Amino acid sequence: LEWCVSVPKVELHAHLNGSVRNSTLFELARVLGDKGVIVFSDVENVILKDDRTLHEVFKLFDLIHILTTDHSTVTRITKEVIEDFAAENVVYLELRTTPKRNDSIGMSKRSYMDAVMEGLRAVSSVDVDYSPAGLKTNTFNGSMRKKMYVRFLLSIDRRESTEAAMETVKLALEMRDLGVVGIDLSGNPIVGNWSTFLPALKFAKEQGLYITLHCGEVPNQEEIKAMIDFLPHRIGHACCFDEENWRKLKSAKIPVEICLTSNIRTETISSIDIHHFVDLYKVKHPLVLCTDDSGVFSTSLSREYNLASSSFGLGKTEMFQLAEIAVNFIFADDGVKADLRATFEEAVKKLN
Ligand code: 5GP
Repeated sequence: LEWCVSVPKVELHAHLNGSVRNSTLFELARVLGDKGVIVFSDVENVILKDDRTLHEVFKLFDLIHILTTDHSTVTRITKEVIEDFAAENVVYLELRTTPKRNDSIGMSKRSYMDAVMEGLRAVSSVDVDYSPAGLKTNTFNGSMRKKMYVRFLLSIDRRESTEAAMETVKLALEMRDLGVVGIDLSGNPIVGNWSTFLPALKFAKEQGLYITLHCGEVPNQEEIKAMIDFLPHRIGHACCFDEENWRKLKSAKIPVEICLTSNIRTETISSIDIHHFVDLYKVKHPLVLCTDDSGVFSTSLSREYNLASSSFGLGKTEMFQLAEIAVNFIFADDGVKADLRATFEEAVKKLN
């Protein structure tokens, strides 16, 4: 595991509210428990539970959102999550989150995202480059600290309407200078219809935003086919594909974000030795290892690399290549890619 920590890594599939530390969730739950808003012991049991079906995971997210969704908490968790990824040598992070509107506390999707940005600017353990033009960093004068790139993806929740999805896309366009590079479609896969989100996703793509979709978490082959036909820039999971959709995906060469622990914990894949990573890796299909929800699934990106190495018999050379190749699939410009490749070249000298 130590070696996996020391390798520079690229994280492309991490949900903000799924990556919150358990200790922070407990602290927040205690405060709301004391106020009588929730019952602390109930929350404790839910948070500590290890294996959850996909359905139960979404119930947990509803609970997490009760704990985290106010401006100052959103700022706090963003800072912590970015610092946690930095601490395990993530050199490029694409963090995704669903902008939330909550009229009762005066929260709009924009003010939610402003709170996220404030959290990013509060990061103190590393220098963060978050602007596409490389102009905006939180660098202090003359600092020699580690540097990390952070970009944002705004998620559309499958519970949302076409109008709400469109609002998120417009917000993403508004926030491009602040490091928002794309749109994600996520949320409970048995809720909502592809046709509801398509107009907003089409518009986003036309406007030059990158698109990644949660695809194939349940065996809805018709939706999977429609999603591949849309040609997103990446997809997440790809667990329940039939033969025909595998063929389509492979010929379209759409990169897949692989979340091993998440797939096993939610029982989307019954056992790691039959995980589709094996086949995709063998045919050299573009793929990248990711955490999904490091808090909810008690994992880290280093652990995901370690798990892939031990489960699929990959040595250090293969693991390093897997980490390095992820640079090809990031939603940032060529300058960032070149800089990251240089980081990997430096690292390989030190690790050998
Ligand atoms: P947030 O967007 O609130 O920062 O992060 C949590 C949200 O991400 C969840 O409410 C859910 O919409 C989405 N999410 C997190 N993990 C998963 C997953 O494994 N599958 C899907 N489809 N959505 C997820």
